[in-house]
Amino acid sequence: MISLAEAREHVLGRCEGPEPVEVALSDARGLVLAEPVDSPEHVPPFANTAMDGFAVRAADTVGAPVVLDVVGTVAAGVDPVVAGIEVGSGTAARIMTGAPMPPGADAVVMVERTEMAADGATVSVAIEVPVGNHVRSPGEDLVAGDRVFEAGVVLSPGHLGVLASIGALAVVVHRQLRVGVLSTGDELRDGPGALAPGQIRDANRPSLLGLLDELGADAVDLGRVVDDETAIEAALLDGASRCDAVLTSGGVSMGDFDYVKVVLDRIGDMRWMQVAIKPAKPLAFGRIDGVPVFGLPGNPVSSMVSFELFARPALRAMSGHAEIDRTCIRADVVGGLPRHADGKVHFARVGVEVVDGRFRVRSAGGQGSHQLTAMAAAGGLAVLPDGDGIPDGGEVDVLLLG
Ligand code: AMP
Ligand code: MG
Repeated sequence: MISLAEAREHVLGRCEGPEPVEVALSDARGLVLAEPVDSPEHVPPFANTAMDGFAVRAADTVGAPVVLDVVGTVAAGVDPVVAGIEVGSGTAARIMTGAPMPPGADAVVMVERTEMAADGATVSVAIEVPVGNHVRSPGEDLVAGDRVFEAGVVLSPGHLGVLASIGALAVVVHRQLRVGVLSTGDELRDGPGALAPGQIRDANRPSLLGLLDELGADAVDLGRVVDDETAIEAALLDGASRCDAVLTSGGVSMGDFDYVKVVLDRIGDMRWMQVAIKPAKPLAFGRIDGVPVFGLPGNPVSSMVSFELFARPALRAMSGHAEIDRTCIRADVVGGLPRHADGKVHFARVGVEVVDGRFRVRSAGGQGSHQLTAMAAAGGLAVLPDGDGIPDGGEVDVLLLG
């Protein structure tokens, strides 16, 4: 057996992401910026009002209440210069939020502190305001030439808004990965209907496709193949030809019909690893024409845990993420998480809750590698070092899922 750290180093060192590409802003959410972005212009681009009200000269409000002559209305989107609106001494202009400050005005009085005459010719201003009152200056958010975002930023909806505000239509990013998922096994069937003796339903493809979807990848269903070398070879070559990475499940253990590792060894540069972890001890990792292939174990919990520990971090690294692992927290154990010493690190499926500001975990159910219900119920994987486990009231590291 090799350590988890060694196995991860092997895998992570052999996964390279595709070249950065330019994508439209509408396709960029969740992707990682591959180049820094500078602002070509000021945001906001011009001085404008933060309030509906009256644009005035601050000096005219001294000794308020004062009555000023109304010279016009500036709506958002109107250029007051073109509209011929100028605020001279003793005058005010009605102004709407976002509208440019008219020449001559240096402050805004919010509409709630004013009262316009019925004929609209004058306005009574109830308060004194300082210069700059409710005025948004040009460049208050971004100054032309500013570095807006560094490479490596994960584009959130807020980032997309900022990019749109400086007129960016497209950005250079690490593009979305296409990742294929293939199930292997003579015993597998899909969907409802009676099972013949010895048959089970394919649980791995839906869970792995779901994990990829959660990761933001374009998950490609490569279907399932029987335990036949020719069929597995064809499916792997097909997957590698149209995907950035391929996940398989099953066929990497010590059984007579575990052909995935045999085929991967023949057509790719493969390393078969027995990793000192439970579940998910066997892992076949190889590359076909440079495309990483993760030969995950067949047991449903093992395939998901193996995805978490190897595929997910590798795919995130290929997508340009600096943070590749799940968040690890320290939690109090309720009810104990027992285990036996066997030279492996165990990953126990646990429910996670926050009580009085502290994380608290308890077993999510049956811990067998075939018992998928506990995996489905789990909010985390508790990391149990080799030994007898963690007693009730003890503390444990937990990888938070989802
Ligand atoms: P294998 O690694 O192919 O020997 O599979 C290990 C165990 O996982 C066996 O009990 C298989 O029946 C089971 N298994 C393999 N693939 C799947 C799958 N896609 N869905 C559910 N169970 C599976
Ligand atoms: Mg099998």
